[in-house]
Amino acid sequence: MPLEALRGRAADGAFCTNTAQPRYSYPMRAATLPTPASAPMPLPPDVTVFERGWLSSNNILLRGRFGAALVDSGYVTHAPQTLALVQAALGAAPLDHLLNTHLHSDHCGGNAALQAAYPGVHTRIPPGLAAAVTAWDEDALTYRPTGQACARFHFDGLLLPGETLALGERHWQVHAAPGHDPHSVILFEPEARLLISADALWARGFGVVFPELEGFDAFDAVAATLDLIERLAPAIVIPGHGPVFSDVARALADARARLEGFVADPARHRRHAARVLLKFKLLEWQRIAPEALHAWARATPYLHTLRSQEAPDGAEPEPSFEAWLEALIDDLVRSGAARRVAGWLVDAG
Ligand SMILES: [Zn+2]
Repeated sequence: MPLEALRGRAADGAFCTNTAQPRYSYPMRAATLPTPASAPMPLPPDVTVFERGWLSSNNILLRGRFGAALVDSGYVTHAPQTLALVQAALGAAPLDHLLNTHLHSDHCGGNAALQAAYPGVHTRIPPGLAAAVTAWDEDALTYRPTGQACARFHFDGLLLPGETLALGERHWQVHAAPGHDPHSVILFEPEARLLISADALWARGFGVVFPELEGFDAFDAVAATLDLIERLAPAIVIPGHGPVFSDVARALADARARLEGFVADPARHRRHAARVLLKFKLLEWQRIAPEALHAWARATPYLHTLRSQEAPDGAEPEPSFEAWLEALIDDLVRSGAARRVAGWLVDAG
């Protein structure tokens, strides 16, 4: 999962950041379409980025002598849109490869639809959760604990850190990128110095550090992955969410400053994570009645874990779960990420 959704746009549409391509716009449920914050970053013509938003990850389409490959496939409720974008770009040509940088629900939710539409597609995933995908263990895959959804898919091979893959027109290195997700990989193309950074680095920040929420130290892994990205020295970064960017030094400085803040105050990171989980679901729903939101929250184990961490060992956390949840909702409303309209909680982009 991504999610700097709190500051993000609603982004239920998509636009293409490859200047050689037309801009696509497929509104789904949002009233307004996202607009690019700046001019699209020039990319080689064989690399097309469908910039999606915060509910769906960006999708990267690579085309060339090695066939057509798509990296990451968005959230399940946007699967028809993902498929439409890929089909519009490929025309009658097949999709040969499908890859996931990691298996958060917003990065692989379109896999099943793509596999159905392109039966010959060869799907690769990072190795860490391969057994969980085979067994479709929704706890290990985090879909159940986070209260999110993902359509079941299969895989044909692994994305092994250290290997180089011929995809589209180029050779891409696979690098382990733990932190946000212990099993995530990033892809680097050394000739044009293109980096597909997943949720390890965005133009502003990086994804919630999920292992930390489960009691595993991972802030050091985030820092090490940022160091790795600095060593790779990409010229252009294609992030998992948000716009393609080239000011890598600024992005790294921003990410390190945020990380420092979380290391100094882990409770701040947990509160951020709880708001992100809530906002992600609101992006999916677009609007929700408070009772339905409370019912979802009560059934979402991650939220209970986060709340229990607010209290000293063994103590009953204060305030009640309902009051804690209402305070989170108030935070979203105060920050402009949500609005209360006629008894509904409405996503505000
Ligand atoms: Zn993620």
